[in-house]
This record gives sequence, structure tokens and C-alpha cells, in this order.
Amino acid sequence: MESVQQSPVKIDPGFSDLVQTSAGLNVNACFQCRKCTNGCPVTFVMDIHPDQVIRLVLLGQKEEVLRCSTIWVCSACETCTTRCPNEVDIAGTMDALKEMAVKEGIQIPQPKTFAFHKAFLDDIKRRGRMFEGRLMQSYLLNSGELFRKILDGSIKEEISLGWNMFKRGRLPLVPKGIKAKKEIKQILK
Ligand code: SF4
Ligand code: SF4
Repeated sequence: MESVQQSPVKIDPGFSDLVQTSAGLNVNACFQCRKCTNGCPVTFVMDIHPDQVIRLVLLGQKEEVLRCSTIWVCSACETCTTRCPNEVDIAGTMDALKEMAVKEGIQIPQPKTFAFHKAFLDDIKRRGRMFEGRLMQSYLLNSGELFRKILDGSIKEEISLGWNMFKRGRLPLVPKGIKAKKEIKQILK
């Protein structure tokens, strides 16, 4: 019988400390009760569950955790963080891991989600709050969705949605800024 060669698991012993200190996150307190996973509304589209993400961080399995799609499909609803009996900020950890994956140049398994994430953060960095018109423009262009929607005709639905939002005053034509722009930039740094 042929033996199956498994590639050795790469361990980064400083990874959990890095996650812990870089975002002030208390991952070490996790005792694997799985309350986070049991309350998460999007586990059905995750490749690994939220409690497993925390476990992999603690085990120093950086590669595996930064390459998983879970950190990108997480909707940041914070249910997990609220449910955790040990006050582990799982939602914050997901965010910190996203930023690490981007910095490490890892190929993002959810490119459209990444395009939305980037468009959203760029907008917040630029003016301190989101401007829906710019966000959609940037997302549609950078994700390639604009061309797809033009080709299959579904762009009409986007235009109709935008028009309806505009009529109801939900889509301003001019972006609004905020006073504390510098503070927001500092937080995002
Ligand atoms: S709820 Fe908290 S303690 Fe329980 S598995 Fe999730 S992170 Fe760990
Ligand atoms: S923040 Fe993310 S991981 Fe936590 S419950 Fe919501 S979707 Fe699930």
C-alpha cells in the first residue's frame, strides 16, 4: 500500500503573542467551550469554525489561519464576542487576522469580500465615514463585478436600486465628512 506523505505543519511560536499584542486581544483566555461557534450565524459558509480559528492562533499555526476563508466570510456581527464567557474578542481577532493576511501578501480566498473590505476601509480612512456612492463604485470596479454585471445585464438592477435609494434620501450625492477625521486615521493606523 502506498503511504500518504503529509506536509509537516508549520508552527510560528510567536504568532499568538503577536495577535495578542498587536490588537490587544485576549486569545489566551479561550478554554474551547465553543459558545462562539454555536452562536455564529455564518458557520455554514466557513471552512473552519471561530473556536478553531482561536485554537490555531494559540497553536501558532499562522499559515493555516491566515489562509482560511473564515476570516473573510465573518460578518463582524460580534455575536461570538458577546457570547464568550472569557471575554475573548473573537470578532476583533478576525479583523486583526485579515489585516495580517493582507500585510503578508497572502492570496485572499474571497477576492470579492476583500475588494469590499478594502473599498470600505479606504473610504473611512479618506473622510472618516462611508460614502455609499464611492463605496459601490470602488467595489464594482475593483472586484470585476461591474464588467460582469454589464455583460449579463444585471447592472440594471443596481441602477434601479441606486435610484430607489436616492429617491428615499438614502443615497446622498455629496459625501459628508466628520470633525474627528484625524482621530479615525490614528485608530486605523
Ligand atoms: S466562546 Fe470564548 S472561550 Fe469559548 S471557544 Fe469561543 S473564544 Fe474560546
Ligand atoms: S463576528 Fe464573525 S465569527 Fe463572530 S459570530 Fe459574527 S460572523 Fe461569526
